[in-house]
This record gives sequence, structure tokens and C-alpha cells, in this order.
Amino acid sequence: MTECIFCKIVAKKIPARIIHEDDLAIAFEDINPQAPIHILIIPRRHISTALEITQADHALIGHLFQVGAEIAQTRGIAEKGFRLVMNTNADAGQAVFHIHLHLLGGRAMHWPPG
Ligand code: AMP
Ligand code: ZN
Repeated sequence: MTECIFCKIVAKKIPARIIHEDDLAIAFEDINPQAPIHILIIPRRHISTALEITQADHALIGHLFQVGAEIAQTRGIAEKGFRLVMNTNADAGQAVFHIHLHLLGGRAMHWPPG
């Protein structure tokens, strides 16, 4: 999708601090971090929101979670804990309409979230 900022990051048309790349997904540092570790894990393929995920995407979505967990281990936050979250539509504060898992960690987090 040509106007999508995350598709542009996938295509390397705009810069990002990419920390993981594979056939299905990439991960990069969030530009406005909300925790000491704040990384976004996204599919290469454009999917707008969680509402557009289909049965054909099940392996892909599982892969996003696995990549997020592996990065949490690499960054040393796995044992203490971390959060993997996908915001959907306005009430959740979704701002970029290309699905992404937020990996947040490095500090204690509140529940319920604000
Ligand atoms: P959400 O509100 O769940 O859609 O999250 C979008 C996230 O993307 C926010 O945490 C932003 O800080 C982040 N973001 C937006 N543009 C960029 C960018 N060019 N590079 C890295 N992160 C970005
Ligand atoms: Zn996109």
C-alpha cells in the first residue's frame, strides 16, 4: 500500500532502526518509545487492523508473537516481563493502520492500561 508509512519502512523508502528481518516480518524501534524497550513487530504484507486478519494469516500472527518473544529474550527482559499488544481502531489509540505488535518492557507496567 503506497501511502502506508509502515509499508514504506518495509520497502526501505523511509528509515527505521530495524532490529529483525525475515521473510514474513520486520521489527524496528518505536520512534516515540513509551518504555525503555519499545519495539514494533509488523508483517511485511499490509493488513490494516486486527479485524482484517483471516484464517490464512494464523501462522503469520503466531510468527509475530514468536519474534516479539525472541526479541524480549535477546534484550534481557523475558524473565522480568514484557507486554505484546496490538491496538485496534480509535478507542485503543491505533494511529498506524498496518498491524503491529508493540513489544514494551524494561519497566513495571500498569494494569489495566490507560
Ligand atoms: P498505534 O498507536 O498502536 O497505531 O502505534 C503506532 C506506533 O508507531 C506509535 O507508537 C508510534 O510512535 C510509532 N511510529 C509511527 N511512525 C513511526 C516511524 N516512522 N518509525 C517508528 N515508529 C513509528
Ligand atoms: Zn502497510
